[in-house]
Amino acid sequence: MKYFINTYGCQMNVHESEKLAGILEDLGYSLADSDQVADVVVFNTCAIRESAEQKIFGNIGMLKQAKKQNPNMIIAVCGCMSQQKGYAELIVKKYPYVDIIFGTHNIARFKDFLNKRNKQKRVIEIVETEDISCRDNMKVARTSGVNAWVNITYGCNNFCTYCIVPYVRGREVSRPAADIIGEVEELLKQGYKQITLLGQNVNSYGNDILDDNVNFANLLQSLDNLPYKYRLRFMTSHPKDLSLKVLEVMAGSKNICHYLHLPVQSGSDFILKAMNRKYTVDKYLNLIETARKMMPDIQFSSDLIVGFPGETEDDFNKTLELVKKVRYQQLFTFIYSKRKGTVAETMDNQVDIKIKKQRLSKLIELEKGIATEISQSYIGKTVEVLVEGKHPKKQGYLMGSCDFGKTISFKGDDKLLGSFAYCLIEKANHTTLFGSITKIIQSSETEYNLPTNKIRRK
Ligand code: SF4
Repeated sequence: MKYFINTYGCQMNVHESEKLAGILEDLGYSLADSDQVADVVVFNTCAIRESAEQKIFGNIGMLKQAKKQNPNMIIAVCGCMSQQKGYAELIVKKYPYVDIIFGTHNIARFKDFLNKRNKQKRVIEIVETEDISCRDNMKVARTSGVNAWVNITYGCNNFCTYCIVPYVRGREVSRPAADIIGEVEELLKQGYKQITLLGQNVNSYGNDILDDNVNFANLLQSLDNLPYKYRLRFMTSHPKDLSLKVLEVMAGSKNICHYLHLPVQSGSDFILKAMNRKYTVDKYLNLIETARKMMPDIQFSSDLIVGFPGETEDDFNKTLELVKKVRYQQLFTFIYSKRKGTVAETMDNQVDIKIKKQRLSKLIELEKGIATEISQSYIGKTVEVLVEGKHPKKQGYLMGSCDFGKTISFKGDDKLLGSFAYCLIEKANHTTLFGSITKIIQSSETEYNLPTNKIRRK
């Protein structure tokens, strides 16, 4: 029996698909080459943009023929899109051959849903809350070689006016620190070398726990104290909650990467207010300056939305100014997309799509130039690399990452996977550095399952 999972959206979904894969593998399923030939197909969906939804609907539609040929095929749809009000009904109406629909809160019940499906025609279960310990105790079929993801919070309390997440993922709940530390220690024992902590807003970790000692800075410090050489990353940080203490812990740490993904979303105070982001451009720039003073080698990336309702040319120019000031090494840029049920959906000063597209191209062009200059500034320097996998296209080449987040490509033997090494940078473009290994710092004794398409993100 074979399974296939189509994963859309963010890293949180990728990790949750690893948990769904854990259930399926426990039941004896193995990975199929494609969804067309699988016995169980899961669509773990995203609701962040309209284009993602259209793509998902198109992909579910493409299974109609396969289901006709194999009526025993089970098709399940879960995640943020199905959690939205009215979507389960819409999916049933458009795709009557979908067998199981569940949301973001009950993925731990997937095994029950599969059992139920064998007894009745269709299973639909969308719930509003859950006991997070069920989700935390799930077996995880990890898929990313030396990398492992660890949830620290679920949900979000921020209600940015453009964002659907608080409506589909619920209020923020923090995992107990001891559980997180225990999970990370176990992963390090197993040989994982790069741990990424996940939360919609990692900086507010612990706000829902009545103990002042439970906060993100203390969690980072405890994890940094573990007696292993490894890399610790986290996403996503909300600028309004990023504390000086977190920056101090980062600056003094052995394992926490000097890389910060700090979504700014706009360079205009007027738009930030309309987005309900609760910080100003000045406050944001102060954080960047403070972080740079404490960690001169730090690099930043960010998310930016263009064409938010009411964004004028002047607002957009302020965004360009901010990008020039911060000089991000990477930007994730998006055209504002109306989301049903959010505050921004009802704003009447929506921006014309043509203008949005023009602004996006300008922003991408600016970002590319800056990212190229940053990459090229490493030419002739030696940086530490974590060897993460084989080059997808070039035989005899490997890929790795720097502490500050850039990807590096270099010649090397597969035996180096999981090792830390020094790499001399010889060439660079806006996304990648190219170099040669000069010295192994620490070899790895673990044999890694290299990333597969098990959890293919679309
Ligand atoms: S912080 Fe804002 S953008 Fe991020 S998940 Fe929460 S509501 Fe959405």
